[in-house]
Amino acid sequence: MSDALAPDGSVLIIGASLSGLRTAQGLRDLGFVGTITLVGDEVHPPYDRPPLSKQVAIGKWDIERTILLDPQRQEDLELNLHLGRRATHLDPDSATVTFDDGGTLSADRVVIATGTRPRQLSVPDGVTAHVVRTYEDGVALHLALAGEQKRVVVIGAGFIGAEIASSARSFGHEVTVVEAQSTPLATILGEQLGALCASLHEKGGATLRSGTSVDGIAAAGDGGAILTLDNGQTLHADVLVVGIGVIPNTEWLVGSGLSINNGVDVDGALFAHDRVVAVGDVARFQWTRLGMTSAERIEHWQVAADHGRFAAEGLLAGRSAAKPIQLLPYFWSDQYGVKLQMLGRPAATDHVHVVEDDDEGRLLALYERDGAVSAAFAISKPRQLMQLRAALLDGVTLADARRLLGS
Ligand SMILES: Cc1cc2nc3c(=O)[nH]c(=O)nc-3n(C[C@H](O)[C@H](O)[C@H](O)COP(=O)(O)OP(=O)(O)OC[C@H]3O[C@@H](n4cnc5c(N)ncnc54)[C@H](O)[C@@H]3O)c2cc1C
Repeated sequence: MSDALAPDGSVLIIGASLSGLRTAQGLRDLGFVGTITLVGDEVHPPYDRPPLSKQVAIGKWDIERTILLDPQRQEDLELNLHLGRRATHLDPDSATVTFDDGGTLSADRVVIATGTRPRQLSVPDGVTAHVVRTYEDGVALHLALAGEQKRVVVIGAGFIGAEIASSARSFGHEVTVVEAQSTPLATILGEQLGALCASLHEKGGATLRSGTSVDGIAAAGDGGAILTLDNGQTLHADVLVVGIGVIPNTEWLVGSGLSINNGVDVDGALFAHDRVVAVGDVARFQWTRLGMTSAERIEHWQVAADHGRFAAEGLLAGRSAAKPIQLLPYFWSDQYGVKLQMLGRPAATDHVHVVEDDDEGRLLALYERDGAVSAAFAISKPRQLMQLRAALLDGVTLADARRLLGS
């Protein structure tokens, strides 16, 4: 018997953000005419998170501009939208979800799209440690940054921390970034390009304290904080922001029988169970590239969006017929007036070849593994990077990639 989702069946999507919405969109694009119910614990319709640390933080965009689902689009997609409702339990065999209001919903298939939340630092009473994930966080960060000269301390020099530091600098604030790793982003970009990105802080007028961590945080008495670093130095923060990674929202799946392992374990077609798929930041998915299969969560906007389309295809095909996803991870980050972009996913042992760079700081680099290009990284060279997209997806040698670029 086929395990394909009937075109007039029902789908229940938990998590009303990018990946959940893209799954609904994907189903409709593929001709699904059944019932789609999208449930989220936030009170806002789905909205976009990348602008929160960029355009919203600096006040260039009003927060409302981040909304992804207006009433017209909701009507076009024929979505039953339940907001402010938190899922507390899943029974995969019956595809039934229980909610915090005591109610339950069942469908033919369930989509887990519950994303992640920021890791927090514990701070004493009287200190606000901003994190940036939600609509409310975005508004609060902007209000905290707006205004006259402030001392801003950002803990964590990952992409989001770096973007917030850059946004704070655009107000002219005194900005210090504290990072435990000696080279920020080295685990993602490698030492050479991690160091290059770290130098953007200095060029942008922020101070980077890397290779050091925060030992203690005390209230300064005026709403600010005094931080003690492990090297004995102290920092005063009028505004304190924490960007030290995320935790997948999987607690509601405890007892479901699904495999949870820093995310929801799914197969190569995003199935966690015959009736359940997981998408976006919460999904620890299997994928194969350059002959290597890995299982990982990837926290990129484009991956979450692509997952939605792949999940829709997989659900309609059924688990037994669903094809493994063909994915080329992509992310971007905007900071200090430059655009950083990565296509693919390098490993720590890959060789870095800088194929183009100039006096303006623009750069294009290729990561090579056994003669093949595993990833490409660009600083403010979007056209050249995107030229490589199709070739990277299919697999390309270093020599052919160079030829394509004319370098
Ligand atoms: C500040 C910021 C900047 C970013 N910038 C970039 C960028 O420049 N480039 C890039 O590639 N990526 C960026 N990202 C990452 C990108 O936004 C994420 O990859 C994307 O939002 C993932 O979408 P998602 O739908 O999987 O999860 P999420 O967006 O996390 O959504 C999950 C939703 O599920 C809800 N939920 C959780 N638990 C439950 C429950 N039990 N019941 C019901 N609902 C629940 C959550 O409240 C949330 O609304 C950024 C992220 C942030 C936070």
